[in-house]
Amino acid sequence: MKAVLFEKFQEAPKLTTVNDPMPEPHGVVLKVEATGVCRSDWHGWMGHDSDIDLPHIPGHELAGVVQAVGKDVSNWKVGDRVTVPFICGCGTCSECHAGHQQVCLHQEQPGFTHWGSFAEYVGIHQADLNVVALPEDMDFATAASLGCRFATSFRAVVDQGKVSAGQWVAVHGCGGVGLSAVMIANAVGANVIGVDLDPAKLKLAKELGAVAVINGAEADVPDAIREITRGGAHVSLDALGHSVTMTNSILCLRPRGKHIQVGLMLGDQAAPAVPMPKIVGQEIELLGSHGMQAHRYGAMLDMVASGKLDPARLVGNKISLADAPDALMNMDKFQSVGATVITRF
Ligand SMILES: [Zn+2]
Ligand SMILES: [Zn+2]
Repeated sequence: MKAVLFEKFQEAPKLTTVNDPMPEPHGVVLKVEATGVCRSDWHGWMGHDSDIDLPHIPGHELAGVVQAVGKDVSNWKVGDRVTVPFICGCGTCSECHAGHQQVCLHQEQPGFTHWGSFAEYVGIHQADLNVVALPEDMDFATAASLGCRFATSFRAVVDQGKVSAGQWVAVHGCGGVGLSAVMIANAVGANVIGVDLDPAKLKLAKELGAVAVINGAEADVPDAIREITRGGAHVSLDALGHSVTMTNSILCLRPRGKHIQVGLMLGDQAAPAVPMPKIVGQEIELLGSHGMQAHRYGAMLDMVASGKLDPARLVGNKISLADAPDALMNMDKFQSVGATVITRF
């Protein structure tokens, strides 16, 4: 099969040919129809992820068609249209038994712990636990864009934040993750404030439901949010993963508010200074959000089917597999509004 592979970290990946994957007894092989290019892939290529063995094929935001099925799989058959969370559970550890596959103790991540979907085919493990059926009318590019940013934002807002109607929600960083969070928090009835440095992203945040936007280059962000909300946000997300947005997110909360860290903090952002006096004195909650379990996809997909969520609005450029090396290497240069998705193989 054709695949994009790198042999050394930070060395240009190549479009090459490798053996087709075979399904494990509990796994499936998918024919990849669409796969997103994500900043996490860039982190992996930079060498920031200790799970990656070389040579490596990236790609974790995928949708496709079941091509081959292992002998122990009972829920899937050849031809099924599916997607998969970027964190796959092992099915046997205590977290998986409790339904928390997103923090599985032996988790597997296509494109990190094994070869991913920048290829014509990809193997998925524990398919009965991890694979998700797609609604018939959802195109593959939209489905691929759910896999990481949108699902993580859904979990952050709905399951971790437990955001309810009438609450104030601040979203710091209006790239793909942040705009997903704006759309989802608005859909569940919150009053959403979007924060970014880019006027174009703030405009889109308003179109997706933000009731107010703040340009961080022009205002003291925590002050501005406390003023708009008359005391601070109930829930605030750092959707970027930077010490500045993380700090603003914590400082803009009202007492007993929740900060949710959605953006990954890796490399030179891995050990930020946290404003602990406010966290103690105001009983602030700090929560992470890391993917979403396959069994929670149904709630998100139902909101897409009913028109309350429209992830297709966040799909950006559609490119070919041959374009993937350049797209991957440039992921740190900008935070594009729409997700770049590989749709031609
Ligand atoms: Zn597990
Ligand atoms: Zn991703």
